[in-house]
Amino acid sequence: MSMDEFVNTLSDEQKQALIKALSGQVVEEEEEEVSEDFTMNKPSGKIQSQRRRESVRAKENSWTDTGEHRDVETPEKAQTPRNRPKPKKKQVKCHACGKTSTVNASLVYGEYYRCDRCTGR
Ligand SMILES: [Zn+2]
Repeated sequence: MSMDEFVNTLSDEQKQALIKALSGQVVEEEEEEVSEDFTMNKPSGKIQSQRRRESVRAKENSWTDTGEHRDVETPEKAQTPRNRPKPKKKQVKCHACGKTSTVNASLVYGEYYRCDRCTGR
């Protein structure tokens, strides 16, 4: 299929879309101009306008307080039973000061336990 035949198969809308797509690509290529020494030649005015110093200022608050949804009620349901087992405690003797204390078993390991006072702080 030649290019002319291809274009003839397109509807007017498709042609417009094609022109738009092609022209869009050309514009993108023009924005970034790379010269022989690989320096970028961007339109300087555009960059300056982007980097312009601006004082920080609060914009107008568009939020409005419409109040609570007081018509919505929390449904009365049975509470989920709290049946997590109690933490396992363990009697430990401080390796440094000899003080005995009861601590959560999952936090203690090894033979040389040090109590809270004796861990370097
Ligand atoms: Zn200690």
